[in-house]
Amino acid sequence: MSLGRENFSEVRDALKALCGQFDSTYWQHVDEKRAYPEKFVEALTRAGWMSALIPEEYGGSGLSLTEASVIMEEITRSGGNAGCCHGQMYNMNTLLRHGSAEQKRHYLPRIAAGELRLQAMGVTEPTAGTDTTKIKTTAVRKGDRYVVNGQKVWTSRLQHSELMILLARTTPLAEVAKKSDGMSVFLVETKSKGLEVKPIRNMVNHETNQLFIDNLEIPAQNRIGEEGKGFRYILDGLNAERILIAAECIGDGYWFTERSTKYASERIVFDRPIGQNQGIQFPIAEAYMEIEAANLMRYKAATLFDQKKNCGAEANMAKHLAAKASWEAANVCLQTHGGFGFAAEYDVERKFRENRLYLVAPISTNLILSYVAEHVLGLPRSF
Ligand SMILES: Cc1cc2nc3c(=O)[nH]c(=O)nc-3n(C[C@H](O)[C@H](O)[C@H](O)COP(=O)(O)OP(=O)(O)OC[C@H]3O[C@@H](n4cnc5c(N)ncnc54)[C@H](O)[C@@H]3O)c2cc1C
Repeated sequence: MSLGRENFSEVRDALKALCGQFDSTYWQHVDEKRAYPEKFVEALTRAGWMSALIPEEYGGSGLSLTEASVIMEEITRSGGNAGCCHGQMYNMNTLLRHGSAEQKRHYLPRIAAGELRLQAMGVTEPTAGTDTTKIKTTAVRKGDRYVVNGQKVWTSRLQHSELMILLARTTPLAEVAKKSDGMSVFLVETKSKGLEVKPIRNMVNHETNQLFIDNLEIPAQNRIGEEGKGFRYILDGLNAERILIAAECIGDGYWFTERSTKYASERIVFDRPIGQNQGIQFPIAEAYMEIEAANLMRYKAATLFDQKKNCGAEANMAKHLAAKASWEAANVCLQTHGGFGFAAEYDVERKFRENRLYLVAPISTNLILSYVAEHVLGLPRSF
C-alpha cells in the first residue's frame, strides 16, 4: 500500500531502501536487549540523513524541515523507532537559527561528517516539570566561563551524543521582569567533567537519563545567542520538534493501518476474513481518516516553519492531532490482531508502547490544549 506517499518520492525511496535493511527482527532484538540501535543510527549517518538540516556550506544536505519530517515518517512507517535519532533534527534548529557563525563553523562540519552527534537536550527538571520557568539549574558567569549546577531528568540519547543543548537559569527568577526571561542555552560537550548520568529504565526502548550537574564549566563562547533569551530559542526549536514528532506519529499511523488491513484480510475466523465484518472494518477506516486529516495539519505546520512564519499554533495542533490519531490506530491494530497483537513477533505490542509516549512527551496533551485555548482562542490564562 502507498497510502499518504504521494510526495517527496526521492527521499521516501531512499529511506525505504535503508530502513528495509533493518527488519522487524532487528527492532525486536534491540527492544528485547534494551539496546541503542547503533547500527541503524550509524547507517542513517553514513547515508547523510542525520545531517539533513545542516546547510550544504557546512557539509550537510540543506533539506527543509518538511523533508526532514518525511525522513522521520518513513522510519516509523518502516516499523522502526525514530526516538533514537530525532534529537539531531530538532536540536539542530537551535544551533542553526540562533548559534553564532563561529559555533556553526566549529561544530556543523563535524556533525555533518558524523564525527559528533547533537542528539541530547536537557530542559526538563524533576521538580519544575512542564513549568520550565521554574528550573533550578543555574549557570553563573565567572570570567570567560559559566559554572553550572543542577539536575535534569529525561535527558534522552545523552549516552550516544557528544553534544547537548542545555537550558539553565542565568538570572534568578526573583530578579526578572518576565518569568520566561533570564534563562540561557548552552552547547555542552557531554563528556565534560561535572556531569553524572543515570539511565532511567522505561516503558519503551528509549535511552533516557537523569543528569546530575556539579560545577560543570562551560566556555562562555558556547552560550547560544544572547544571555537570558534562551527560553525563546528553546520554544522556537520546540515547534520543529512538534512537527517532527507529528510526522513520526503519521508514520506510525500508516504502519498500524497497513498492519490492521493486512491482518483483517488474511485472518479467517467463522470461515471468512475477519475484515469482512464491519465491526472490524469501520474502526480501521475511521482511524485512517483521522491520520489523513492530521497529516494535512502536519504539512501546513511544516510549510509555515520552512517559510519562517509563525507556526506555534499549527505545530502544536499537528502534534496533538497526529499523536491522538496514531494512538487510535494503534489501539485498533491491537484489537484487530486479537491475542496475536500481544505476541512480540508481530511488532504490534512494541509499536503500541512506542507510540503511546507521544501523548505525553515531548509535550503532554493538556499543555497543547491549554496553548490553543489561550493563544489561539483568547480564553483566560489558567497558569
Ligand atoms: C521517554 C521520555 C523522553 C523524554 N526526553 C526528554 C528530553 O530528551 N529532554 C527533555 O528536556 N525532556 C524530555 N522528556 C520530558 C518530557 O518532555 C516531559 O515528561 C513532558 O513534557 C511532561 O512533563 P512532566 O513529566 O514533568 O509532567 P508534569 O509537568 O509533572 O505534568 C504531569 C501531568 O499533569 C498535566 N499538567 C501539568 N500542569 C497542568 C495544568 N496546568 N493543567 C492541566 N494539566 C496539567 C500534564 O499535562 C501531565 O499530564 C522526556 C520524557 C519521556 C517520558
